[in-house]
Amino acid sequence: MEVKFYGVRGSISVSGIKYSEFGGNTTCLMIIAPGTQRIGVIDAGTGIRQLGADFLAKGSDQKDIFIAFTHFHWDHIQGFPFFAPAYDPDMTINLLAKGGDRRLKCLQDIFATQMQETYFPVAMGEMGARFEFLLIENSTQTFIPPDQVPVHVTAVRHNHPGGAYSYRYERAGRSLVFSTDIEHGESIDENIVSLAQGADLLIHDGQYSNEQLATKKGWGHSSYEQAAEVAIRANVKQLIVTHHDPDHDDEYLRGAEQRCRDIFPDTTFAREGLLVST
Ligand SMILES: [Zn+2]
Ligand SMILES: [Zn+2]
Repeated sequence: MEVKFYGVRGSISVSGIKYSEFGGNTTCLMIIAPGTQRIGVIDAGTGIRQLGADFLAKGSDQKDIFIAFTHFHWDHIQGFPFFAPAYDPDMTINLLAKGGDRRLKCLQDIFATQMQETYFPVAMGEMGARFEFLLIENSTQTFIPPDQVPVHVTAVRHNHPGGAYSYRYERAGRSLVFSTDIEHGESIDENIVSLAQGADLLIHDGQYSNEQLATKKGWGHSSYEQAAEVAIRANVKQLIVTHHDPDHDDEYLRGAEQRCRDIFPDTTFAREGLLVST
C-alpha cells in the first residue's frame, strides 16, 4: 500500500511562510492500492480539496471512492464540500464510519448539515454524485474491491471528546494503522498497542510534546513521545507523526521530529505531499 498525506495539520488550517515545509491543510490521507492505482481516503479535512483535484487530473476511471472517517470534528470534514469528484454524476462516494452508537440517518445528517444554505451555497443532494452511507458494525470488516484483493478494516474506539476511532487496514499481507485525535490518559491505551501490533506503518497523533500535554488534559490529543512509545511497544516498522498543532511552525516541527527520532529512529513527521510505501 501507499499513503499520500494531503492534510497533516490538527484543529484548524494555517498558512504562511512559516508553515511551508509541513503544510497547513487539516487531516486527509489517500491510500493507494499498488498496481491498480485505486484510491481510498481517510478523513475530509481541508486537504481533500487538492486530493480531489489530483484525482480528476489523473483521469482515473475509478467511479467509486470510499472515504472513512475517524470522527466528525471540523478539521476532519471541512474540506468535503470542496471535493470535486463529489460533483461528478457518474461517481459514487461511500462515506464510511464505525457504527457503535451512530445510526445511518445520523451519518447522513452530519454531512447534509454542514452544507445547509446558511453555511454553503450547494446542498449535498445537489452535488451530483451518488452517496452511500456505510457503517462498520463489526470491529473488523472485509471489503472486496474490483481487483479482488480483500481489504480488512478494523476500527477501535479511543478516547477523544465525543469519541473517535483508530483504523487498521490490511491488504495482501501489508498493514497500516491510523490513530489520530487520541488522548491516552495516564498510560498508553492498550487497545491501540494491540491494534498496531506488528504494523508496517503506524500513523499517530503527536500534536504536543509531553511537556505541552501536561497543560492540555482533556483536549483529546497525544504527545509525539507517546506516539513513539506506541511504535516501540507495538513493534511497528515505521512511525509517521501527524495532526500538528497550528502553533507549531516548520522550525519547531523539525526539532520535534529529531527529538522523536532519538526515541524511535524510524520516525517521520508528516508533511503535506509526503508519499510513503509500506
Ligand atoms: Zn482533529
Ligand atoms: Zn477531534
